Amino acid sequence: MIPTCDQVQRTAYERWLRRGRVHGQDREDWYAAEKELRFRLNYETIVEYPLVSGQRLVLGDGAVRACRFCERTSGQARFEVPHPVLPGLLGSRAPRTFAICDECQAESREPLEGDFRRFWSGLQADAGVTPASPEPWRRRRGSLAAYKSLVAGALLVLPESELGYVPDALEWVSHPDPESDAGLFAGAACRVYSGDGLGGRSWVSLARRLDDEMPWPYLLYFLGAEGLVVQVHIPLCLRDEDLDGQLLSIPERVFVAGEGPDFRQSDSKVWPLALSLPVGRSAQRDRAIFVRSH
Ligand SMILES: [Zn+2]
Repeated sequence: MIPTCDQVQRTAYERWLRRGRVHGQDREDWYAAEKELRFRLNYETIVEYPLVSGQRLVLGDGAVRACRFCERTSGQARFEVPHPVLPGLLGSRAPRTFAICDECQAESREPLEGDFRRFWSGLQADAGVTPASPEPWRRRRGSLAAYKSLVAGALLVLPESELGYVPDALEWVSHPDPESDAGLFAGAACRVYSGDGLGGRSWVSLARRLDDEMPWPYLLYFLGAEGLVVQVHIPLCLRDEDLDGQLLSIPERVFVAGEGPDFRQSDSKVWPLALSLPVGRSAQRDRAIFVRSH
């Protein structure tokens, strides 16, 4: 659903009020209102957890524990402790879950920890949250592993009713080699938000597409922490099969915080997660996993 002129006008007007009725930024307000409305009209948040230090929330602690990665249950695999839904450096603030067995955690997620750490510090340096990386070219290495790490976390917080749409994504994240099926992910990218408009909030959430006619991914995952928000889509989703061969575009959001002179909004940029294939070699287009910005 594309926002109507009236809807954009009303939202832009609300931004103007929130800014403290300061003139001269009409165009900026209009574009920001249009972007945020595209997300709000076409997605609904289906799950959201705050990230807090000393997090106590434990997911998937039923009478029978079942691993989403290998499908074994507590009679067939070890579930000694719940594992954090986020990689180690953010894990202490994240909910924990019994939806992954100890073996899958050790074999599929832990090998990606170093890659995620490098990816995260690269994003922070790029956004100016930390001093610039001395090796800007090398910061993108291992990004596909970081993507896998993010998607694994998303699949661990995904409501059970949606699991039937993501068997291929579950299989991909279960494979220990971060480069497995790399050909499917040529040109994949995420969107990274930074700036004071994020309001210092830390959270993870998943949003689901409302209208299957839109050429946008079915599931979007957001991870907000330490002054950044990373937005990725869940690849290989069955609900995206009608988009085969198309370039997926992903709505860009605008986060705001404060009022009057304290009004701030986020900036965002597209960050590559995998290299494009060299010219002359065609990408495998059996899945719609390509991303472009508006
Ligand atoms: Zn398992």
